[in-house]
Amino acid sequence: MKLGILGGTFDPIHLGHLIIAEEAMSSLGLDRVLFVPAGDPWMKADTTITPKQHRLAMVLAAVGDNPKFKVSPSELERFGPSYTVETLEEFKEDYGLQTELFFIIGADALMDFGRWSQPERVLELCTLAVVGRPAQEEPDLSALESSLPGIRKRVAMVDDVAIGVSATDIRERVAEGRSIRYLVPPTVETYIQEHGLYKEKR
Ligand code: ATP
Repeated sequence: MKLGILGGTFDPIHLGHLIIAEEAMSSLGLDRVLFVPAGDPWMKADTTITPKQHRLAMVLAAVGDNPKFKVSPSELERFGPSYTVETLEEFKEDYGLQTELFFIIGADALMDFGRWSQPERVLELCTLAVVGRPAQEEPDLSALESSLPGIRKRVAMVDDVAIGVSATDIRERVAEGRSIRYLVPPTVETYIQEHGLYKEKR
């Protein structure tokens, strides 16, 4: 089996996330994509993050109608910072050696890859399925290769879908009273309204 994993803060989940998961699935022939909300995203340690129960509820509401999209609370249940390497080790154990793991990431997140915990081990455990992001330059694989030899062979580029939606933009729009219709699934829009999320500017 080919298993895609999309980790993120999902604060909130938006159509960009769903579209890159779908595109990775079709272009790399994945059987399923697991959405993994980060419990304590150490890369965003300096920002306020919405409590995990809301972020998880929005992810569940967003993917519920797609039988190939599943949600794993793995990182939410673990204590301490959410390191991808630990999540991948856990999935490798749960799904067995027959399952090939593909970690789906935006080009912006790839450029930080050298700062991740145990990047060499991450590359042993999975292929990075990299998706271009508007306003983001093509990832400089040669620069990454010099600090992490072999990374190029472990990167699969996903066809560019160029969706310029970000969670930051959604939060700002809600705080300013602007519409987020069509940028998030209707279930997520309703959840945000009902729970009064993102009213304060961060
Ligand atoms: P924020 O604006 O709060 O930083 P975000 O929209 O980047 O959030 P995350 O939950 O941090 O959302 O993203 C999870 C993963 O999805 C990351 O690898 C990120 O690069 C990728 N991603 C998010 N939105 C897009 C998009 N529009 N196009 C391509 N990749 C995306």
